[in-house]
Amino acid sequence: MENDTGKVFLVGAGPGDPDLLTIKALRLIEEADVIVYDRLVSDDVLRLVPAGVSKIFVGKAPGNHPASQACVNDMLVRLARKGHRVVRLKGGDPFVFGRGGEEALHLVRHAIPFEVVPGVTAAIACAAYAGIPLTHRGLAHSLRFVAGHCRDDMPLDLDWRGLADGNTTLVFYMALMNLGEVRNRLMSAGLPGSTPAALVESGTTQRQRAIGTTLDELVRSARNHRVTTPAVVIIGRVAALAAELAWFTPEKAPESELHRDGTTSYA
Ligand code: SAH
Repeated sequence: MENDTGKVFLVGAGPGDPDLLTIKALRLIEEADVIVYDRLVSDDVLRLVPAGVSKIFVGKAPGNHPASQACVNDMLVRLARKGHRVVRLKGGDPFVFGRGGEEALHLVRHAIPFEVVPGVTAAIACAAYAGIPLTHRGLAHSLRFVAGHCRDDMPLDLDWRGLADGNTTLVFYMALMNLGEVRNRLMSAGLPGSTPAALVESGTTQRQRAIGTTLDELVRSARNHRVTTPAVVIIGRVAALAAELAWFTPEKAPESELHRDGTTSYA
């Protein structure tokens, strides 16, 4: 019977710190019959799932094959048709580089009721925890979130001229493999090499590292500090404000790394 169909909630789990979950996300996690989650959903968030609720992992570790998107889509439909309240937990926000739109379209086409619960996306969260206002009077009046990775490792197909605007803050997701290309293309398109930049790894978690650098030094900084995924790259004059505004020190980290490389070029 139609009424027996459950519902799928596409829920943003935020960037890692469980305190950044919305109240709605927390309530849905507590009321779920089943949780379907990705690699970027932090352990601290998963600990909030009540005992006895089944948790299905559909993420990919780098280099390994993920459950295909088609599999995930079908799984959501199947679970909902059993009458379950399904919480599809995604890192950050489900509609920002999270393929939440594809899942929602699949649900619509199969007449499965759903809701979308926004989460704090990595760009917003990492900037806040690194002390980088993404817009700032006189420094940046617009902001762009950019995918720094293409399907099948194709070259990045971006409007570099449009991106190379000194009054715009750029936040690259998934860009670690393509940092050299990002740097070279932006500089060729006219963005000065001295433009401040920051790499924020595992933002908002107790492993967070935020490294201040410049566009020119981006690759070298990432290599020197062995930056690993997940990380965002923030490029723009606002990144220099971290030198004064960085406030978050993970308890387990020796000290914030923000000032180390930053001294070279924030003048
Ligand atoms: N839906 C997610 C993005 C998924 S794409 C969101 O809204 O945040 C995966 C990319 O997100 C990673 O490659 C990385 O660039 C970024 N990311 C996610 N969590 C992060 C974190 N805690 N710290 C830094 N970058 C993160």
